[in-house]
Amino acid sequence: MRASDATRIYFDRAADELDLSASLRRLLATPKREVQVQLPVERDSGEIATFIGYRVQHNDARGPFKGGLRYHPQVDLDEVRSLAALMTWKTAVVDIPYGGAKGGVAVAPSDCSTRELERITRKFVDALHDLFGPDVDIPAPDMGTTADMMAWIMNQYGRYHGFAPGCVTGKPVDYHGIPGREEATGRGVGGLTLKLLSRLGRKPPGTRIAIQGFGNVGTHAAKYLADAECRIVAVGDASASYANERGLDVLELLRHARGTGGRLTGFSGGDAIPPADLLTIDCDVLIPAALGGVITAANADAIRAPIIVEAANAPIEPEADDRLAARGVVVLPDILANAGGVTASWFEWVQNRQHYQWGLDRVRGELDRILGRAFEEVWQLAQSRKLPLRTAAYMLGVGRVARATALGGVG
Ligand code: GLU
Repeated sequence: MRASDATRIYFDRAADELDLSASLRRLLATPKREVQVQLPVERDSGEIATFIGYRVQHNDARGPFKGGLRYHPQVDLDEVRSLAALMTWKTAVVDIPYGGAKGGVAVAPSDCSTRELERITRKFVDALHDLFGPDVDIPAPDMGTTADMMAWIMNQYGRYHGFAPGCVTGKPVDYHGIPGREEATGRGVGGLTLKLLSRLGRKPPGTRIAIQGFGNVGTHAAKYLADAECRIVAVGDASASYANERGLDVLELLRHARGTGGRLTGFSGGDAIPPADLLTIDCDVLIPAALGGVITAANADAIRAPIIVEAANAPIEPEADDRLAARGVVVLPDILANAGGVTASWFEWVQNRQHYQWGLDRVRGELDRILGRAFEEVWQLAQSRKLPLRTAAYMLGVGRVARATALGGVG
């Protein structure tokens, strides 16, 4: 199934519940603009390599387009289109004043030198800067992109439009970024997992958690949950997966990953397990925090976790989602679970525009407040309508965008 078809299925379920007209559905499901650009870049060897870049601006009824840039070999227009729509519903669920967009480049960052990545990123801005801007469309990091790349984007954008730190978020703290942005997605995943556990009558101490992905999101979520005395019984990344029924030492894992350029392979504090077993391991909470589309009709029935928290974007395909729901598995959907990142991006943007600094405590406090409010709204709606959390989250998000569209009009 195409990624955008999967997002559309979730959207349609919410639209049915909201009784949206066919004309409004079509308007909300259609991206406002889709752009594909050619990025010819000189490699360190002197050869010319041509990369393809994308930006899909899905909806701006509630505010400027907002969403990350993904650098991954599998990036294509359809994936970006689907992720752009997710951003529209995500910013609306947490009720921050943005629309939704996504971009990316089909490239494997591990195959490029830092200088090559810088040239690709600056070329991307050269091609698209007229579509960006603090009041227009604000990129941010996503899979395969880093704070340093956001600094290059701000710097390159400034060459055309002058000093405008609010043109991109997720920047380094020493270059117009804010403390608390980098950890925000993982912190949000952790905090929302605790809220869900509490609503389900479970206590964090001893709760067994498996995490797929040990990048920015997976590491911060693991740390947060281990601090809350949950037991991280398995983690995996593209290099290796490890399990330990007594609980993996998260600080040791982080120390290990620092010494290997971020990879888990070679970790000695757990048993190596086949990567596919990570998703089906016996645990209380499964947190996919890596690629999309990892839980499919083929493996859904083998999943033993009664709770899944979608830290990644779109990790569960719709058919798998139905099978999990039929078995009573509770899924906290991506558009709420990983919304901490874009929420902290909003804080960064607000501070950039005010030339002011809040400090880490305020960032964390405001983040916890906004995510907590969104969680309660989604939970209450799901309870009152007897719906899965995903449909309730989409209803809130889609409903807000629909109302803004009606208020603004299409004149
Ligand atoms: N890439 C992140 C996401 O998928 C953050 C986007 C942002 O901060 O704009 O939510």
